[in-house]
Amino acid sequence: MMDLVQNLPFLLRSWSHLHGFPSLSAYRDRRLRLLVEHAYRNVPFYRELYDQHGVRPEEIQTVRDLRRLPLIDKKQLQRYGREILCDRRLKPEELIRRQSSGSTGTPFVLWRTPAEERRLNLLRWRILYLLGLRPGDRMTGIRSLWGPVPRRFEWLMNLAQRTGLVRKTDLDCFLPPEKMYDQLAAICPDVLCGYTASLAQLAGYIEAARLQPLGMRFVVSGAESIPEETRRRMKQQWRVPVYDIYACTEMNSVAWQCPSSELYHVSDDSVLLEIEKDGRPALPGEAGEIVLTSLHSYAMPFIRYQTEDLAVASDAVCPCGLGFSTLQSISGRQTDRLQLPDGRDIHSYELLNPLELIAEAWISQYQVVQRAPDHIQIHIVPLQPVSVEQQERLLQALSEVTGPEVRLEIQLVPTIPLAPSGKRRFVIRMGGETGS
Ligand SMILES: [Zn+2]
Repeated sequence: MMDLVQNLPFLLRSWSHLHGFPSLSAYRDRRLRLLVEHAYRNVPFYRELYDQHGVRPEEIQTVRDLRRLPLIDKKQLQRYGREILCDRRLKPEELIRRQSSGSTGTPFVLWRTPAEERRLNLLRWRILYLLGLRPGDRMTGIRSLWGPVPRRFEWLMNLAQRTGLVRKTDLDCFLPPEKMYDQLAAICPDVLCGYTASLAQLAGYIEAARLQPLGMRFVVSGAESIPEETRRRMKQQWRVPVYDIYACTEMNSVAWQCPSSELYHVSDDSVLLEIEKDGRPALPGEAGEIVLTSLHSYAMPFIRYQTEDLAVASDAVCPCGLGFSTLQSISGRQTDRLQLPDGRDIHSYELLNPLELIAEAWISQYQVVQRAPDHIQIHIVPLQPVSVEQQERLLQALSEVTGPEVRLEIQLVPTIPLAPSGKRRFVIRMGGETGS
C-alpha cells in the first residue's frame, strides 16, 4: 500500500503531462540534471566513464547538453557486475534482478528497485489507456509463461481483478494456434496483446482455417521487430486496429503507435530518445539507431544507451494533439544483418519482404538460416502443397537480392520452433550473432 502512496504523485504528474501541464521540457531538464548528478556521485561505472571523458555533471543542465555525454552500449555494461553498475548505497536485497536474452545470445542482467518497476508498469498502463483500454475490459496477453514471473504488483492486481477494474488473463505463446484460438474464443477478450510474431501466426491461422473473427476491439503488438510485409499482412488479417508498442527490458515501454495516425509517440516524460546517424542526430525522415536515457532508473541508470534498434525520425505533430514527440517508424534491429560473399552487408528484411510477397499464398511460417556467407537455407512451413515452379520462382526472387554467389535452398518443414524466450527468430546466423 505504501508503494501506491509513494507513486501517487508520480501517477498524477504523468497524467498531467498528457494535458501539457506542467511544462514537459522543464520536467525533462530537471530529471536529467538529477539523474546525471546521481549517476556521477553514486554509480562507479558513470564516475569512471565521465572522468575518462572529462565531463562534469554540472555541464549537463538541459536536454540540449545531453550530447556532451558519451554513448554506452550493452557489451560495455556486460563486462561489469552489480557493484559497478548500480547505486553503491543499495543492498542486493533491495533490488529486483531482470534478465534480457540479448541479440548476441549473451544474457544481459539488470537491476531495479520494486518502486522503479512499478513506475515503469504504471507508464505501460497509461499507454494501454491511451490506446483505448478501459476499466472492466477483458485483456488477454499472449506471452511466454515459462520460468518465474515476477509478481511484485500481485496484491494490487488481485484487488483490481476482484473489483473487475482489470480483467487480465495470460495465454502461453507456445500453444499451437488452434488451441490458442479455442481458448481465446472462450475468453472473448476486448483487447489482445502479444508478441508480434505470435499474433501474426494466429491471424494467419484464423484466416486460413476461415474461422470466426475473435471480436476484440483492438490488438496490441510488441516485443519483436518483424518484417514490414508480415506486419502489413497481419494488420489486414486481424480486421481490427493493430497498435505497436516499442519496449525493451532495460526501459519497459518507450513508444507506442497512436490510434489517430501511424506515428509513434515517445514517452517523453519517461525516456529521452535520440536517433543517431553517423555520429549526429538523424534528420526528420532519416533512419538511425535509437539511443535511450531512462529518466526514472536510478538503481541502475541508463544514460545514452545504444539499443541497436532502428527508427525513422520525425518532426510531425500528431493530429491527436498529444504534446509528445513522434517517430515515423521503428524497424528491425541493426544486428539482423546478413554478410554476403560479395562484401555487401544487407538487412535481413531485404530478403524477407520479397519472400513474403511472392510466397504469400502458400507460406505459413518461415525462418532464414545463414549457414555460411554463401549458403542460405529458407525453412518454410507450407500452408498447402507447393509445386516445384512455386519454389523456383521464390528462389529466383531471393537470388536477385543475394546475388549469384549465394547458394539458396528451400526446406519444407512441419514446424519452426520458437526461441526459448517464446519469441520468434526470423533469421539465424550460424557461428555468429543471431537476429531477434
Ligand atoms: Zn497521436
